[in-house]
Amino acid sequence: MTERSEEVAARLGAVRRRIEVAGEEAGRDEPVGLVVVTKYFPVEDVRILADLGVTDVGENRHQEAQEKAAECADLALRWHFIGGLQSNKAAAVAGYADVVESVDRAKLVSGLQRGAEARGARVDVLLQVSLDPPGSEGRSGADADDLSALAARVGQCAGLRLEGLMAVAPLGADPDAAFERLAGIRAAFLAEHPRATELSAGMSSDLEAAIRHGATRVRVGSAVLGPRPPAL
Ligand SMILES: *Cc1c(COP(=O)(O)O)cnc(C)c1O
Repeated sequence: MTERSEEVAARLGAVRRRIEVAGEEAGRDEPVGLVVVTKYFPVEDVRILADLGVTDVGENRHQEAQEKAAECADLALRWHFIGGLQSNKAAAVAGYADVVESVDRAKLVSGLQRGAEARGARVDVLLQVSLDPPGSEGRSGADADDLSALAARVGQCAGLRLEGLMAVAPLGADPDAAFERLAGIRAAFLAEHPRATELSAGMSSDLEAAIRHGATRVRVGSAVLGPRPPAL
C-alpha cells in the first residue's frame, strides 16, 4: 500500500464505522449506503477507493465527472451526479452517470431521458428538494410543493427510474432541524410514490443527523479523502 492508500483506508474505515453506529442507533435493518464524493480529487484516488471496496462515487461538475468516468471505465463503479445541472448538459450527464441525484426542475428531464435512451441504459433519478428558506442565495433544489409534478414527469420516461429524494442541509443552520423537516417532506412523498424509497442526505459533518432522520444513503467527501484540493 502507498502512503495515500493507507491514509484513505484509515479515513474510510472511520467513516464506515460512523455510518454503522448511526444506523444501529437509528434501528436500521438495512445498511446505509455510502457515496464517496471524489470531486476535485484525482482519478488515482478513485482507483484507491475502488480497491478498498467502494462501489459508488459522486461528482458535482459535468466536465470533470465525464472525464473521470471515462478514465475509470474499467472499474465497476456507479457514478452519481450530485451537482447543479444545466439543462443543455443533461443528456451528456445521462451518458455516463448511473444515478442523477440533483434533478430539481422539469426542464432537465427530457435531456436525461434522451441521454439514457442513446446510451441504452436506465438512469436512476433522485429529486433534489431544497431545505433553504425561499429566496435564499444560491438555493438549489425544488420546492417540496413541486415534487409531485416533477415525479410525474420522470414517471413518463422509460429510460429513467425514480429512486427517491436528495437534500443538502442549509449552510450554517442546525442540520438536525433541517433533516427533521426533510423527513416530513419525504413521508408525504412516499405516500404517493411508495417505491421511491431512497433518501440521499448527510455529508462529512452531518451524516449522523441525516441517518437519524431517515437517510438511506450518505454522500461523504472530505471525511474520506481529506481536505479538497483546489479545483482541477
Ligand atoms: C461536496 C458535496 C458533498 C460532500 O461534502 P463533504 O463535506 O466533503 O463530505 C456531498 N453532497 C454534495 C451535493 C456535495 O456537493
